[in-house]
Amino acid sequence: MNTPLSAAIHAKRDDLIALTQDMIRMPTLNPPGQDYLLICEYLEKRLSGHGFQTQMIRAYGTPGDSDKYPRWNIIARREGKHTGDCVHFNSHTDVVEVGAGWTFDPFGGEISDGKIYGRGTCDMKGGLAASIIAAEAFIETHPDFAGAIEISGTADEETGGYGGVAYLAEHGHFSPDKVQHVIIPEPLNKDRICLGHRGGWWAEIETKGEIAHGAMPFLGDCAVRHMGAVLQEFEDKLFPAMAERYTDMPVVPEGARQSTMNINSIHGGENEPEPGFTGLQAHCVPDSCRIVIDRRFLVEEPLDQVRDEVTGLLEGLRKSRPNFDYELTERNSVLPSMTDKESPVVRTVAKAIEDVMGKSPEYVASPGSYDQKHIDRIGKLKNCIAYGPGILDLAHKPDEYIGIDDMIDSACVMGAALETLLLPQSD
Ligand SMILES: [Zn+2]
Repeated sequence: MNTPLSAAIHAKRDDLIALTQDMIRMPTLNPPGQDYLLICEYLEKRLSGHGFQTQMIRAYGTPGDSDKYPRWNIIARREGKHTGDCVHFNSHTDVVEVGAGWTFDPFGGEISDGKIYGRGTCDMKGGLAASIIAAEAFIETHPDFAGAIEISGTADEETGGYGGVAYLAEHGHFSPDKVQHVIIPEPLNKDRICLGHRGGWWAEIETKGEIAHGAMPFLGDCAVRHMGAVLQEFEDKLFPAMAERYTDMPVVPEGARQSTMNINSIHGGENEPEPGFTGLQAHCVPDSCRIVIDRRFLVEEPLDQVRDEVTGLLEGLRKSRPNFDYELTERNSVLPSMTDKESPVVRTVAKAIEDVMGKSPEYVASPGSYDQKHIDRIGKLKNCIAYGPGILDLAHKPDEYIGIDDMIDSACVMGAALETLLLPQSD
């Protein structure tokens, strides 16, 4: 579709590329959470130069925040000429570790075959750049717009978002009287709208035993065998029960449309020897065995039920198995989030995708979570989606890239959504 706004966005192609490259060259690795100030200052300069009021906010005291690795966030707001709704684009500025297997410089921002390569191109500095270009082009094309546009760059999404969106939501920056529509340009593909995500519950389970000589295990009590009984209960009861549950959420990939649980780790007995150690192990009955479970649950499952299901099995073993003792420590939990398909931001972006790309959008939900949980649960703002350029499967992989044309297309969708939400409608 050819409109003055899409022409303005296409005219900014070189600017979009340079903006993405500049941000890729800032290695905002998390952990540890470095260079947040660098990228926030860069965004502050850029956006204040385009008439945005900016606020730099450090999330003091949140996990990982220190003078060496301060958790800086930026919110930029551009007021329109008349009263109206506020549309907020939220992007996280952190990227995950580089890992092995790269053929491009992960912080070089090199261009090859219409793609920009580097850690964070797809997840999600390319989406952030697209939203900035969309907003700037919209303001140029429609200087008399109503309402307001906000753009935020936030910390720590890859480690739960506690020093980023959660902190901002706790301090009122996502309250529904201030912000009415939120678009998170995560890489969900330019023709898909992500409505929400599953929940997660993480816990450590320790079984207890009694140390004794390995030659006389009958004088002790083996914690690993007790853990074996726990795992057998999971195999016999929990996994089959979870396999029966399907969600109405349109989660992709298909396999994540069910309840799932991963056993992230298991350890019992003597510590593993250091690499290169050539000595032999002593012979002891292990008195402790620990596992960490990662339970992902559906919008149809209450968190209490998820928790009770596991503790119920453990309590059952306490009754049926001699000397069985355990401790369960909850590490974290995240509730599912699901935006109504009929909500204004979903309908607006769906129509924008149809107008720009000539096809109906696909509606999806994410198997893992992202910052929507905090906007929904802490901010109490339900009118929120993830929509942005980039191929989700490339996130966190070597040779991560973002297609330049994809960024342009999704910027056109974001711009068209701004036209619907912030301009008086003739029909
Ligand atoms: Zn991301």
